[in-house]
Amino acid sequence: MSGTGHASLTIIEPPAEQFQHDAHDVAGDLTHRRVLRKALGSYDAAFKKAKGRFLDHDDAKRRAARIKRDAVEHLSDYLEEFERNVHRNGGQVHWAQTADEATQIILSIAKNAGVTHVVKSKSMATEEIHLNDSFEKAGIEPIETDLGEYICQLRGEPPYHFVTPVMHLTKRDIADTFEEKLHIERTEVAEELTMIAREKLRDAFTTSLMGVTGGNFLVADVGMIAITENEGNARLCFSLPDIHVALVGIEKVLPRMADLALFWPLLATSGTGQHLTCYNSLIGGPRQGAETDGPREFHVILMDNGRTRLLADPEQRDAAQCIRCGACLNVCPIFKNVGGHTYGTTYQGPIGAVITPHLRGLKEWKHLPYASSLCGNCTEVCPVKIDIHHHLLHHRRNAVAQGLNTWTERLSFQMWRLGMKSVLAYRLVGAMSRIGQFFYRLFWLDQGWLPTPIDGWTKSRDLPEIASQSFRDWWRKEGSSL
Ligand code: SF4
Repeated sequence: MSGTGHASLTIIEPPAEQFQHDAHDVAGDLTHRRVLRKALGSYDAAFKKAKGRFLDHDDAKRRAARIKRDAVEHLSDYLEEFERNVHRNGGQVHWAQTADEATQIILSIAKNAGVTHVVKSKSMATEEIHLNDSFEKAGIEPIETDLGEYICQLRGEPPYHFVTPVMHLTKRDIADTFEEKLHIERTEVAEELTMIAREKLRDAFTTSLMGVTGGNFLVADVGMIAITENEGNARLCFSLPDIHVALVGIEKVLPRMADLALFWPLLATSGTGQHLTCYNSLIGGPRQGAETDGPREFHVILMDNGRTRLLADPEQRDAAQCIRCGACLNVCPIFKNVGGHTYGTTYQGPIGAVITPHLRGLKEWKHLPYASSLCGNCTEVCPVKIDIHHHLLHHRRNAVAQGLNTWTERLSFQMWRLGMKSVLAYRLVGAMSRIGQFFYRLFWLDQGWLPTPIDGWTKSRDLPEIASQSFRDWWRKEGSSL
Protein backbone atom coordinates (compact mmCIF):
# COMPACT_ATOMS: atom_id res chain seq x y z
CA MET A 1 0.00 0.00 0.00
CA SER A 2 1.36 3.42 -0.91
CA GLY A 3 1.05 6.60 1.07
CA THR A 4 2.12 8.12 4.31
CA GLY A 5 1.00 7.33 7.82
CA HIS A 6 -1.41 4.63 6.67
CA ALA A 7 -3.30 2.39 9.03
CA SER A 8 -1.05 -0.08 10.79
CA LEU A 9 -0.62 -3.37 8.99
CA THR A 10 0.48 -5.02 12.24
CA ILE A 11 -2.46 -6.00 14.42
CA ILE A 12 -1.60 -5.93 18.10
CA GLU A 13 -3.83 -6.51 21.10
CA PRO A 14 -4.71 -4.85 23.42
CA PRO A 15 -5.45 -1.42 21.85
CA ALA A 16 -3.01 0.34 24.21
CA GLU A 17 -0.10 -1.64 22.78
CA GLN A 18 -1.30 -1.04 19.25
CA PHE A 19 -1.38 2.68 20.05
CA GLN A 20 2.18 2.67 21.35
CA HIS A 21 3.44 0.67 18.39
CA ASP A 22 1.76 2.89 15.80
CA ALA A 23 2.56 6.14 17.61
CA HIS A 24 6.22 5.19 17.64
CA ASP A 25 6.19 4.42 13.90
CA VAL A 26 4.21 7.45 12.80
CA ALA A 27 5.98 9.98 15.04
CA GLY A 28 9.26 8.95 13.40
CA ASP A 29 7.87 9.28 9.86
CA LEU A 30 9.00 12.74 8.80
CA THR A 31 7.22 12.60 5.43
CA HIS A 32 3.95 11.93 7.17
CA ARG A 33 4.49 14.79 9.57
CA ARG A 34 5.32 17.15 6.71
CA VAL A 35 2.07 16.25 4.89
CA LEU A 36 0.08 16.73 8.06
CA ARG A 37 1.77 20.03 8.89
CA LYS A 38 0.90 21.38 5.45
CA ALA A 39 -2.75 20.31 5.71
CA LEU A 40 -3.13 21.71 9.21
CA GLY A 41 -1.34 24.93 8.25
CA SER A 42 -3.91 25.55 5.48
CA TYR A 43 -6.74 24.75 7.90
CA ASP A 44 -5.34 27.15 10.48
CA ALA A 45 -5.14 30.04 8.01
CA ALA A 46 -8.67 29.40 6.70
CA PHE A 47 -10.07 29.03 10.22
CA LYS A 48 -8.64 32.37 11.36
CA LYS A 49 -10.09 34.11 8.32
CA ALA A 50 -13.53 32.52 8.67
CA LYS A 51 -13.60 33.25 12.41
CA GLY A 52 -13.02 36.92 11.63
CA ARG A 53 -16.35 37.04 9.80
CA PHE A 54 -18.25 36.58 13.05
CA LEU A 55 -19.12 39.80 14.81
CA ASP A 56 -18.25 38.10 18.09
CA HIS A 57 -17.02 34.53 17.69
CA ASP A 58 -16.74 33.93 21.44
CA ASP A 59 -20.31 35.01 21.95
CA ALA A 60 -21.42 32.67 19.13
CA LYS A 61 -19.62 29.81 20.92
CA ARG A 62 -21.30 30.69 24.22
CA ARG A 63 -24.74 30.72 22.59
CA ALA A 64 -24.08 27.43 20.80
CA ALA A 65 -22.95 25.82 24.06
CA ARG A 66 -26.12 27.02 25.78
CA ILE A 67 -28.35 25.58 23.05
CA LYS A 68 -26.56 22.23 22.99
CA ARG A 69 -26.56 22.03 26.79
CA ASP A 70 -30.32 22.52 26.79
CA ALA A 71 -30.66 19.88 24.03
CA VAL A 72 -28.58 17.36 25.98
CA GLU A 73 -30.29 18.08 29.32
CA HIS A 74 -33.74 17.56 27.75
CA LEU A 75 -32.69 14.94 25.23
CA SER A 76 -35.62 12.55 25.62
CA ASP A 77 -38.16 15.38 25.18
CA TYR A 78 -36.51 16.66 22.02
CA LEU A 79 -36.03 13.18 20.56
CA GLU A 80 -39.70 12.34 21.09
CA GLU A 81 -40.67 15.65 19.49
CA PHE A 82 -38.40 14.80 16.57
CA GLU A 83 -39.98 11.34 16.25
CA ARG A 84 -43.55 12.74 16.27
CA ASN A 85 -42.67 15.22 13.54
CA VAL A 86 -40.95 12.61 11.35
CA HIS A 87 -44.06 10.40 11.63
CA ARG A 88 -46.25 13.35 10.72
CA ASN A 89 -44.11 13.89 7.59
CA GLY A 90 -44.54 10.23 6.58
CA GLY A 91 -41.12 8.94 7.68
CA GLN A 92 -40.20 6.12 10.04
CA VAL A 93 -38.08 6.32 13.18
CA HIS A 94 -36.23 3.31 14.60
CA TRP A 95 -34.48 3.21 17.96
CA ALA A 96 -31.26 1.22 18.22
CA GLN A 97 -29.66 0.67 21.57
CA THR A 98 -26.55 -1.08 20.25
CA ALA A 99 -24.44 -1.20 17.10
CA ASP A 100 -25.81 -4.67 16.42
CA GLU A 101 -29.42 -3.48 16.62
CA ALA A 102 -28.68 -0.58 14.25
CA THR A 103 -27.02 -2.98 11.79
CA GLN A 104 -29.91 -5.44 11.89
CA ILE A 105 -32.46 -2.67 11.24
CA ILE A 106 -30.53 -1.41 8.22
CA LEU A 107 -29.93 -4.91 6.81
CA SER A 108 -33.58 -5.86 7.17
CA ILE A 109 -34.69 -2.69 5.31
CA ALA A 110 -32.19 -3.51 2.55
CA LYS A 111 -33.11 -7.19 2.31
CA ASN A 112 -36.86 -6.52 2.25
CA ALA A 113 -36.34 -4.21 -0.72
CA GLY A 114 -34.02 -6.65 -2.54
CA VAL A 115 -31.14 -4.19 -2.51
CA THR A 116 -27.91 -5.37 -4.13
CA HIS A 117 -25.78 -2.25 -3.71
CA VAL A 118 -26.01 0.82 -1.54
CA VAL A 119 -24.65 4.33 -2.05
CA LYS A 120 -23.32 5.96 1.10
CA SER A 121 -22.36 9.47 2.00
CA LYS A 122 -19.78 10.25 4.71
CA SER A 123 -21.10 9.09 8.06
CA MET A 124 -19.05 8.41 11.16
CA ALA A 125 -22.04 6.66 12.76
CA THR A 126 -21.84 3.99 10.03
CA GLU A 127 -18.08 3.77 10.56
CA GLU A 128 -18.73 3.31 14.27
CA ILE A 129 -20.85 0.18 13.64
CA HIS A 130 -18.65 -1.10 10.76
CA LEU A 131 -21.66 -1.10 8.49
CA ASN A 132 -19.68 -1.74 5.30
CA ASP A 133 -18.40 -5.06 6.68
CA SER A 134 -21.96 -6.09 7.58
CA PHE A 135 -23.24 -5.14 4.14
CA GLU A 136 -20.50 -7.18 2.49
CA LYS A 137 -21.21 -10.20 4.68
CA ALA A 138 -24.88 -9.93 3.67
CA GLY A 139 -23.93 -9.89 -0.03
CA ILE A 140 -24.74 -6.18 -0.48
CA GLU A 141 -22.10 -3.92 -2.02
CA PRO A 142 -21.56 -0.64 -0.13
CA ILE A 143 -20.25 2.21 -2.29
CA GLU A 144 -18.76 5.25 -0.57
CA THR A 145 -19.52 8.40 -2.57
CA ASP A 146 -17.71 11.10 -0.59
CA LEU A 147 -14.41 11.48 -2.42
CA GLY A 148 -12.31 11.08 0.72
CA GLU A 149 -14.29 8.05 1.87
CA TYR A 150 -14.16 6.60 -1.66
CA ILE A 151 -10.35 6.81 -1.54
CA CYS A 152 -10.36 5.19 1.93
CA GLN A 153 -12.55 2.39 0.61
CA LEU A 154 -10.24 1.80 -2.37
CA ARG A 155 -7.25 1.64 -0.02
CA GLY A 156 -9.03 -0.54 2.54
CA GLU A 157 -8.33 2.01 5.26
CA PRO A 158 -10.53 3.63 7.88
CA PRO A 159 -10.87 7.44 7.74
CA TYR A 160 -7.81 9.21 9.13
CA HIS A 161 -9.78 12.15 10.54
CA PHE A 162 -13.53 12.25 11.03
CA VAL A 163 -13.91 15.46 9.00
CA THR A 164 -11.12 15.05 6.44
CA PRO A 165 -10.73 11.31 5.90
CA VAL A 166 -7.61 11.47 3.70
CA MET A 167 -5.81 14.39 5.30
CA HIS A 168 -2.63 12.26 5.38
CA LEU A 169 -2.44 11.63 1.63
CA THR A 170 -0.75 13.63 -1.11
CA LYS A 171 -1.97 13.89 -4.70
CA ARG A 172 0.71 11.39 -5.59
CA ASP A 173 -0.60 8.88 -3.04
CA ILE A 174 -4.11 9.25 -4.45
CA ALA A 175 -2.83 8.89 -8.02
CA ASP A 176 -1.02 5.68 -6.95
CA THR A 177 -4.22 4.35 -5.40
CA PHE A 178 -6.35 5.12 -8.47
CA GLU A 179 -3.78 3.60 -10.81
CA GLU A 180 -3.49 0.43 -8.72
CA LYS A 181 -7.15 -0.10 -7.85
CA LEU A 182 -9.02 1.35 -10.82
CA HIS A 183 -6.47 0.38 -13.51
CA ILE A 184 -6.60 3.78 -15.18
CA GLU A 185 -3.98 5.80 -16.97
CA ARG A 186 -1.98 7.61 -14.34
CA THR A 187 -2.63 11.27 -13.61
CA GLU A 188 -1.72 13.50 -10.70
CA VAL A 189 -4.01 16.36 -11.74
CA ALA A 190 -6.57 16.85 -8.96
CA GLU A 191 -9.42 17.79 -11.33
CA GLU A 192 -8.78 14.70 -13.47
CA LEU A 193 -8.69 12.42 -10.42
CA THR A 194 -12.00 13.92 -9.26
CA MET A 195 -13.58 13.39 -12.67
CA ILE A 196 -12.47 9.75 -12.69
CA ALA A 197 -14.15 9.16 -9.32
CA ARG A 198 -17.24 11.01 -10.48
CA GLU A 199 -17.47 8.86 -13.60
CA LYS A 200 -17.15 5.66 -11.55
CA LEU A 201 -19.80 6.76 -9.05
CA ARG A 202 -22.42 8.07 -11.46
CA ASP A 203 -23.82 4.63 -12.33
CA ALA A 204 -23.98 3.67 -8.67
CA PHE A 205 -26.16 6.70 -7.90
CA THR A 206 -28.63 6.00 -10.68
CA THR A 207 -28.94 2.25 -10.12
CA SER A 208 -28.93 1.96 -6.33
CA LEU A 209 -32.24 1.34 -4.59
CA MET A 210 -30.98 2.55 -1.26
CA GLY A 211 -28.93 5.50 0.00
CA VAL A 212 -27.40 5.61 3.47
CA THR A 213 -26.35 8.86 5.14
CA GLY A 214 -25.57 10.13 8.59
CA GLY A 215 -26.88 13.44 9.85
CA ASN A 216 -25.18 16.49 11.33
CA PHE A 217 -28.27 17.56 13.25
CA LEU A 218 -31.72 16.21 14.13
CA VAL A 219 -34.00 19.23 14.13
CA ALA A 220 -36.70 18.47 16.69
CA ASP A 221 -39.36 21.10 15.97
CA VAL A 222 -39.68 20.17 12.28
CA GLY A 223 -38.67 16.49 12.34
CA MET A 224 -35.90 16.98 9.78
CA ILE A 225 -32.29 15.91 9.56
CA ALA A 226 -29.68 18.46 8.50
CA ILE A 227 -26.74 17.30 6.39
CA THR A 228 -23.70 19.44 5.68
CA GLU A 229 -21.25 18.56 2.90
CA ASN A 230 -19.00 20.05 0.25
CA GLU A 231 -19.45 17.73 -2.72
CA GLY A 232 -23.20 17.29 -3.25
CA ASN A 233 -22.87 13.50 -3.13
CA ALA A 234 -25.04 13.24 0.00
CA ARG A 235 -27.83 15.02 -1.90
CA LEU A 236 -27.66 12.36 -4.59
CA CYS A 237 -27.60 9.60 -1.95
CA PHE A 238 -30.85 10.73 -0.37
CA SER A 239 -32.72 11.99 -3.43
CA LEU A 240 -32.09 9.44 -6.23
CA PRO A 241 -32.60 6.01 -4.57
CA ASP A 242 -36.08 4.84 -3.55
CA ILE A 243 -35.08 4.34 0.08
CA HIS A 244 -33.18 6.76 2.28
CA VAL A 245 -31.80 5.48 5.58
CA ALA A 246 -30.12 7.94 7.95
CA LEU A 247 -28.15 6.59 10.90
CA VAL A 248 -27.68 9.29 13.52
CA GLY A 249 -26.43 9.34 17.13
CA ILE A 250 -29.06 10.47 19.62
CA GLU A 251 -26.91 13.37 20.81
CA LYS A 252 -27.18 15.17 17.45
CA VAL A 253 -30.47 16.83 18.33
CA LEU A 254 -31.09 20.59 18.02
CA PRO A 255 -34.28 22.03 19.45
CA ARG A 256 -35.28 24.41 16.66
CA MET A 257 -34.79 25.00 12.95
CA ALA A 258 -33.76 28.58 13.80
CA ASP A 259 -30.72 27.20 15.67
CA LEU A 260 -29.19 26.23 12.33
CA ALA A 261 -28.58 29.91 11.60
CA LEU A 262 -25.92 29.73 14.31
CA PHE A 263 -24.76 26.11 13.96
CA TRP A 264 -24.24 25.94 10.20
CA PRO A 265 -21.67 28.79 10.04
CA LEU A 266 -20.10 27.69 13.32
CA LEU A 267 -19.65 24.11 12.09
CA ALA A 268 -18.25 25.26 8.74
CA THR A 269 -15.80 27.67 10.41
CA SER A 270 -14.49 25.18 12.94
CA GLY A 271 -14.62 22.19 10.60
CA THR A 272 -12.96 23.41 7.43
CA GLY A 273 -12.40 27.15 7.82
CA GLN A 274 -15.27 27.96 5.46
CA HIS A 275 -17.84 30.62 6.17
CA LEU A 276 -20.53 28.20 5.11
CA THR A 277 -20.19 24.66 3.77
CA CYS A 278 -21.22 24.31 0.08
CA TYR A 279 -24.34 22.17 0.55
CA ASN A 280 -26.62 22.34 3.58
CA SER A 281 -29.70 20.15 3.18
CA LEU A 282 -32.78 19.53 5.29
CA ILE A 283 -34.55 16.23 4.73
CA GLY A 284 -38.03 15.97 6.12
CA GLY A 285 -39.51 12.73 4.86
CA PRO A 286 -40.35 10.70 1.77
CA ARG A 287 -41.69 12.26 -1.42
CA GLN A 288 -45.23 13.55 -1.01
CA GLY A 289 -48.32 13.08 -3.22
CA ALA A 290 -47.59 14.70 -6.57
CA GLU A 291 -43.85 15.11 -6.07
CA THR A 292 -41.81 13.47 -8.81
CA ASP A 293 -38.55 12.87 -6.99
CA GLY A 294 -37.12 12.09 -3.59
CA PRO A 295 -37.16 8.74 -1.78
CA ARG A 296 -40.34 6.70 -1.41
CA GLU A 297 -39.24 5.55 2.05
CA PHE A 298 -37.46 7.61 4.68
CA HIS A 299 -36.00 5.88 7.75
CA VAL A 300 -34.13 7.53 10.60
CA ILE A 301 -32.30 5.26 13.02
CA LEU A 302 -31.60 6.92 16.34
CA MET A 303 -28.59 5.16 17.78
CA ASP A 304 -27.46 5.02 21.40
CA ASN A 305 -24.48 2.60 21.29
CA GLY A 306 -22.97 3.76 24.59
CA ARG A 307 -24.06 7.40 24.44
CA THR A 308 -26.40 7.04 27.43
CA ARG A 309 -23.37 5.94 29.49
CA LEU A 310 -21.81 9.29 28.68
CA LEU A 311 -25.08 11.10 29.43
CA ALA A 312 -25.32 9.34 32.79
CA ASP A 313 -22.00 10.87 33.83
CA PRO A 314 -22.88 14.37 35.12
CA GLU A 315 -19.21 15.38 35.16
CA GLN A 316 -18.55 14.56 31.49
CA ARG A 317 -22.04 14.87 30.01
CA ASP A 318 -21.13 18.05 28.14
CA ALA A 319 -19.02 15.88 25.78
CA ALA A 320 -22.36 14.87 24.22
CA GLN A 321 -22.64 18.46 22.97
CA CYS A 322 -19.94 17.71 20.36
CA ILE A 323 -20.91 18.69 16.80
CA ARG A 324 -17.97 16.72 15.29
CA CYS A 325 -16.29 19.72 13.73
CA GLY A 326 -12.82 18.22 14.21
CA ALA A 327 -11.24 21.50 15.39
CA CYS A 328 -9.87 19.91 18.57
CA LEU A 329 -7.93 17.36 16.47
CA ASN A 330 -6.46 20.05 14.26
CA VAL A 331 -4.88 21.92 17.16
CA CYS A 332 -3.80 18.91 19.22
CA PRO A 333 0.01 18.47 19.49
CA ILE A 334 -0.43 14.72 20.00
CA PHE A 335 -2.62 14.30 16.91
CA LYS A 336 -0.04 16.30 14.92
CA ASN A 337 2.63 13.78 15.92
CA VAL A 338 0.89 10.42 15.97
CA GLY A 339 -1.77 11.01 13.28
CA GLY A 340 -5.34 9.80 13.10
CA HIS A 341 -5.02 6.06 12.44
CA THR A 342 -2.95 5.56 15.56
CA TYR A 343 -5.97 6.17 17.78
CA GLY A 344 -7.62 3.02 16.38
CA THR A 345 -11.05 4.56 16.94
CA THR A 346 -13.83 6.10 14.85
CA TYR A 347 -13.43 9.40 16.70
CA GLN A 348 -9.80 10.44 16.90
CA GLY A 349 -7.97 13.16 18.80
CA PRO A 350 -8.97 14.80 22.09
CA ILE A 351 -12.74 14.32 21.77
CA GLY A 352 -12.15 10.70 20.74
CA ALA A 353 -10.08 10.26 23.90
CA VAL A 354 -13.01 11.58 25.94
CA ILE A 355 -15.90 9.68 24.36
CA THR A 356 -14.28 6.39 23.33
CA PRO A 357 -13.87 5.14 26.92
CA HIS A 358 -17.61 5.73 27.34
CA LEU A 359 -18.55 4.11 24.03
CA ARG A 360 -16.13 1.17 24.22
CA GLY A 361 -15.09 0.85 27.86
CA LEU A 362 -12.52 2.60 30.05
CA LYS A 363 -10.60 -0.60 30.77
CA GLU A 364 -9.43 -1.13 27.18
CA TRP A 365 -9.27 2.54 26.15
CA LYS A 366 -7.85 4.26 29.22
CA HIS A 367 -4.59 4.90 27.37
CA LEU A 368 -6.24 7.52 25.16
CA PRO A 369 -6.80 10.09 27.93
CA TYR A 370 -3.06 9.79 28.64
CA ALA A 371 -2.26 10.70 25.03
CA SER A 372 -2.45 14.38 25.82
CA SER A 373 -0.14 17.16 26.87
CA LEU A 374 -3.11 18.78 28.67
CA CYS A 375 -2.21 22.06 26.95
CA GLY A 376 -5.90 22.96 26.71
CA ASN A 377 -5.83 23.95 22.99
CA CYS A 378 -8.74 21.59 22.38
CA THR A 379 -10.95 23.23 24.99
CA GLU A 380 -9.97 26.66 23.72
CA VAL A 381 -11.12 26.02 20.12
CA CYS A 382 -14.22 23.95 20.82
CA PRO A 383 -17.23 25.80 19.36
CA VAL A 384 -19.59 24.33 21.97
CA LYS A 385 -17.22 24.87 24.88
CA ILE A 386 -16.67 21.28 25.98
CA ASP A 387 -14.19 21.10 28.83
CA ILE A 388 -12.16 18.51 26.93
CA HIS A 389 -8.80 18.53 28.68
CA HIS A 390 -10.35 18.35 32.14
CA HIS A 391 -12.37 15.33 31.01
CA LEU A 392 -9.10 13.64 30.08
CA LEU A 393 -8.02 14.17 33.68
CA HIS A 394 -11.37 12.83 34.91
CA HIS A 395 -10.78 9.63 32.94
CA ARG A 396 -7.28 9.27 34.38
CA ARG A 397 -8.63 9.73 37.89
CA ASN A 398 -11.47 7.24 37.25
CA ALA A 399 -9.02 4.67 35.86
CA VAL A 400 -6.95 4.91 39.05
CA ALA A 401 -10.05 4.79 41.27
CA GLN A 402 -11.17 1.62 39.47
CA GLY A 403 -7.74 0.03 39.88
CA LEU A 404 -7.13 -0.04 36.12
CA ASN A 405 -3.60 1.41 36.25
CA THR A 406 -0.54 -0.86 36.26
CA TRP A 407 1.24 -2.06 39.40
CA THR A 408 4.40 -0.23 38.36
CA GLU A 409 2.49 3.04 38.17
CA ARG A 410 0.87 2.40 41.55
CA LEU A 411 4.26 1.58 43.08
CA SER A 412 5.89 4.69 41.59
CA PHE A 413 3.23 6.98 42.99
CA GLN A 414 3.34 5.27 46.38
CA MET A 415 7.08 5.85 46.50
CA TRP A 416 6.68 9.43 45.35
CA ARG A 417 4.05 10.00 48.06
CA LEU A 418 6.31 8.54 50.76
CA GLY A 419 9.21 10.69 49.54
CA MET A 420 7.11 13.83 49.64
CA LYS A 421 5.70 13.12 53.10
CA SER A 422 8.99 12.87 55.00
CA VAL A 423 11.96 15.26 55.00
CA LEU A 424 14.31 12.38 55.65
CA ALA A 425 12.95 10.27 52.79
CA TYR A 426 13.04 13.29 50.47
CA ARG A 427 16.73 13.87 51.25
CA LEU A 428 17.48 10.18 50.85
CA VAL A 429 15.85 10.08 47.41
CA GLY A 430 17.85 13.17 46.39
CA ALA A 431 21.12 11.58 47.52
CA MET A 432 20.31 8.27 45.81
CA SER A 433 19.38 10.06 42.57
CA ARG A 434 22.74 11.82 42.52
CA ILE A 435 24.58 8.53 43.06
CA GLY A 436 22.36 6.84 40.44
CA GLN A 437 23.09 9.64 37.99
CA PHE A 438 26.85 9.18 38.48
CA PHE A 439 26.67 5.45 37.68
CA TYR A 440 24.22 5.98 34.84
CA ARG A 441 26.61 8.36 33.15
CA LEU A 442 29.62 6.14 33.83
CA PHE A 443 28.24 2.81 32.62
CA TRP A 444 25.39 3.59 30.28
CA LEU A 445 25.37 7.05 28.81
CA ASP A 446 29.09 7.74 28.29
CA GLN A 447 30.30 4.18 27.62
CA GLY A 448 27.22 2.49 26.20
CA TRP A 449 28.44 -0.72 27.90
CA LEU A 450 25.10 -2.00 29.08
CA PRO A 451 21.52 -1.74 27.87
CA THR A 452 19.87 1.27 29.49
CA PRO A 453 17.02 0.51 31.88
CA ILE A 454 15.32 3.75 30.86
CA ASP A 455 16.05 3.34 27.15
CA GLY A 456 12.48 4.08 26.16
CA TRP A 457 12.75 7.51 27.71
CA THR A 458 16.31 8.50 26.78
CA LYS A 459 16.27 7.39 23.13
CA SER A 460 14.50 10.55 22.08
CA ARG A 461 14.94 12.80 25.13
CA ASP A 462 17.72 14.13 27.34
CA LEU A 463 17.67 13.00 30.93
CA PRO A 464 17.30 16.11 33.09
CA GLU A 465 20.52 16.62 35.03
CA ILE A 466 20.28 16.48 38.81
CA ALA A 467 22.32 19.22 40.52
CA SER A 468 25.50 17.97 42.21
CA GLN A 469 24.35 19.32 45.57
CA SER A 470 20.91 19.80 47.03
CA PHE A 471 19.47 23.22 47.82
CA ARG A 472 19.54 22.27 51.49
CA ASP A 473 23.33 21.54 51.33
CA TRP A 474 23.98 24.69 49.36
CA TRP A 475 22.04 26.78 51.87
CA ARG A 476 23.92 25.27 54.79
CA LYS A 477 27.22 26.31 53.17
CA GLU A 478 26.36 29.58 51.45
CA GLY A 479 23.06 30.78 52.89
CA SER A 480 24.47 32.22 56.10
CA SER A 481 26.78 34.59 54.19
CA LEU A 482 23.89 36.11 52.16
S1 SF4 B 1 -15.17 18.44 20.92
FE1 SF4 B 1 -15.59 20.50 20.19
S2 SF4 B 1 -13.84 20.96 18.87
FE2 SF4 B 1 -13.82 18.72 19.15
S3 SF4 B 1 -15.00 17.92 17.43
FE3 SF4 B 1 -16.45 18.21 19.11
S4 SF4 B 1 -17.31 20.23 18.79
FE4 SF4 B 1 -15.47 20.13 17.56
